[in-house]
Amino acid sequence: MELKGKVALVTGGSRGIGKSIAIKLASLGSDVLFSYTSNADRAKEVQAEIERMGRRALAIKADVSKIDDVERMIQEGMNYFSQIDILVNNAGVTKDNLLMRMTEEEWNNVMDVNLKGTFNVTKCLIRNMIKQKNCSIINVASIVGISGNAGQCNYSASKAGIIGFTKSLAKEVGKKNIRVNAVAPGFIATDMTKKLPEKVVEEYLEKITLNKLGEPEDIANAVAFLASDMSKYITGQIIVVDGGILI
Ligand code: NAP
Repeated sequence: MELKGKVALVTGGSRGIGKSIAIKLASLGSDVLFSYTSNADRAKEVQAEIERMGRRALAIKADVSKIDDVERMIQEGMNYFSQIDILVNNAGVTKDNLLMRMTEEEWNNVMDVNLKGTFNVTKCLIRNMIKQKNCSIINVASIVGISGNAGQCNYSASKAGIIGFTKSLAKEVGKKNIRVNAVAPGFIATDMTKKLPEKVVEEYLEKITLNKLGEPEDIANAVAFLASDMSKYITGQIIVVDGGILI
């Protein structure tokens, strides 16, 4: 697999799954533009790590739920790289609560970042991609967008929305040779899952056929495959990477 001559945009690329994706794509030869919101030093470290691999990298502070931020990020990215061939909509948040206790703010925040953020970034980039052709969009969904999960009505609805978005956009842009796919991770060891109580983690472990948590690199490998020409006849698909939870 190789991505030489490509430029990738990864949202939320300074930590967790997004960082692993940014580094994996760079290791395969892609230059990388990535966004962060919270920690400029951490973003600079990832940028430096990619540059040490001999690739160009640019970290831009941008909240994907804010259209002005997204437009600025795409503009700065296009000015710097002149092309963006791979888009990975990875940025995501959880605000778990039972529906009867869920506040409107918890609902809106998760929908704004996960689903509207995916819309914002893709919408801002799609015209450029249509002009360029041979592009790949990969959205990071979740198995709970397929199975549902108690305490995550907001999160699972946002991820189910991403799955519908992925299939619809794949149909819209397939003729332009733009492929649109999603990866649906199961339980991956990152900051997002670190905050879960031990009992919940143990319950999950019992359901995981391979009997261990996934690593960010497991998701990055699937994303790299979908970004590369190795998957050139695959579009509109949701690749589940969950160690066998859903079987
Ligand atoms: P994480 O460690 O909590 O990282 C979340 C990432 O999203 C960070 O890079 C963060 O950037 C970024 N982000 C949050 N709010 C943002 C906003 N408003 N605008 C732009 N970026 C924002 O989570 P993760 O586990 O790596 O998750 C990455 C993706 O995988 C998410 O879409 C998540 O839903 C999905 N996923 C994760 C799991 C899992 O088990 N971990 C399972 C299924 C799906 P900053 O650090 O700069 O704030």
